[in-house]
Amino acid sequence: MNSIHGGLRGESDAERVAQAQRRAQALLSDPTLGKIFQARSGRDVPVARQVFVNRNLHLGKVEAVGFDMDYTLAIYHLRRIEQLSYDMTIERLVTHKGYPEELRKLTYDHAAVIRGLFIDKRYGNLLKIDRFGHVGRAFHGSDPLSEEQLDKLYRNERIRLKNDDYAWLDTLFALPEGAIFLGCVDLFEKELQRPLDYRKLFDDVRESIDTVHRDNTLKAVIRQDIAKYIYKDEELGPALHKLRSGGKKLFVLTNSLWDYTQAVMSYLLDGLLPEYPSWRNYFDVVITGAAKPAFFSEARPFLEIDASTEANTVLGEAESLERGKVYQGGNLAAFERMTEIAGGAVLYVGDHIYGDILKSKKTSMWRTCMIVQEIEDEITYLESRRDEVTRLADLELLQSRLDDEVQRHKTQLNQIERKLEREATAPLEQSELEAAFKAVKGELDHLRKSHKDCMGLARTLEEDIERGFNPRWGLHFKEGVENSRFGEQVEQYACLYTSRVSNLGSYSPMHTFRSAREQMPHELAGALSAKLGALGSEGLPKAANRAPTDIP
Ligand code: IMP
Ligand code: MG
Repeated sequence: MNSIHGGLRGESDAERVAQAQRRAQALLSDPTLGKIFQARSGRDVPVARQVFVNRNLHLGKVEAVGFDMDYTLAIYHLRRIEQLSYDMTIERLVTHKGYPEELRKLTYDHAAVIRGLFIDKRYGNLLKIDRFGHVGRAFHGSDPLSEEQLDKLYRNERIRLKNDDYAWLDTLFALPEGAIFLGCVDLFEKELQRPLDYRKLFDDVRESIDTVHRDNTLKAVIRQDIAKYIYKDEELGPALHKLRSGGKKLFVLTNSLWDYTQAVMSYLLDGLLPEYPSWRNYFDVVITGAAKPAFFSEARPFLEIDASTEANTVLGEAESLERGKVYQGGNLAAFERMTEIAGGAVLYVGDHIYGDILKSKKTSMWRTCMIVQEIEDEITYLESRRDEVTRLADLELLQSRLDDEVQRHKTQLNQIERKLEREATAPLEQSELEAAFKAVKGELDHLRKSHKDCMGLARTLEEDIERGFNPRWGLHFKEGVENSRFGEQVEQYACLYTSRVSNLGSYSPMHTFRSAREQMPHELAGALSAKLGALGSEGLPKAANRAPTDIP
């Protein structure tokens, strides 16, 4: 096709480009390169354990890899810690906040809440939001909101993170909060028949759970039996060793204080590999009590901690960050100045979408890898239902094509009708037109029926696949056909994401993580799509890179 702007290339380029085309074709057809062309890095890694890529990252250019601890280096057994935190928070609500004894009868349902939901403090609902901020589904206690209720309350609203009417359950620590909120709504409104101030309920639950974290009651119980609450990943030590062997400096940057960090990290790594008798041998810098997200934006000093005791004793302000010592607090600017490692040379691995990933991405040039523990189960589940997922995708495609066909047939019918209405039509032509009308109308009816069938079946299949994973909330990364708000935030702020830190061990420390290339609608529309889609994809195609329960 001729360009409306005239030729884009000079004639002198033509021969050089034609030659490049021929050579490119020869290279692509070279049988000795066939295997390499077909292969994708990480292909031998099970999908659930792969590292997924939103933005290209050259590990070779990364000089330091930092790790959050809780839910990152330390993988908690979700159900056990959630139950513990749930029980302790309920206890506090009853003993310190005047909530009725009946609260103690509430039982914890692990599936009642997933990460990424919003609590609506005005109406007492739990919401799942799509990437545009629209409410896709909601629960009031254990009751789902109907389409009409959703329309009435939320149709004209976009849920924004900054709006104080909503609280975002953006960490795994927050799941019991949501479950207690739902449980109280049911208990007060259905059983006790008492009015409930939802905003106060939220504040009371928040304050109580905050206290059990801060006053160490939760951590004291975990420390009594760490193996019950934290999964020991035998592959963690080797993965960290591989990064160190690749010349990376490793550091820990956790909000937990020194005493708890020492207990958890010793359990995870001490004695795992003979080269590293203590967990501290793996890390060049250890920063505890980092107060993320403030670490990334405020100017708090680094304090040196006396690591010989568990009293979190501060020895004084630190002028430098030394291997073998332990620090508390600090800030991004001082960290980069003292370590002389900055910006894109740092890869930070964390699980908290706001405190670890979003905040660091917005305030620094650090590259980010998000740990989404839940995706391991979600991917495994989707893999187990691969045929049905494929059938659903096919059905949705058929539905959209049928839609186009219906429109085309409608236009055709209109045209015939207009011709028939013209008075001057000869009788023979008239009967031909009537026959054509009948035929097109028959096809249209069939297409319409098939389209309706498709729509109904797709809805049933989609609900079944989603409910099979979580009866209330479906998949973490999806809401209907859109990405969920959670999925969208992971995509926007995490350069990489994966289910656990040790997954990094499946890749070379020089590996280039390549993102499935983003395609705009106009690229998808034409012949370009097949070519562009095939370029530089890592692991699953992007749309399928969503996967999430408990690690054994
Ligand atoms: P990190 O993930 O290693 O940075 O550490 C998370 C720390 O934050 C742990 O020590 C948790 O106990 C603590 N934490 C999580 N949620 C809360 C809360 O609501 N209030 C206070 N501390 C919390
Ligand atoms: Mg964490």
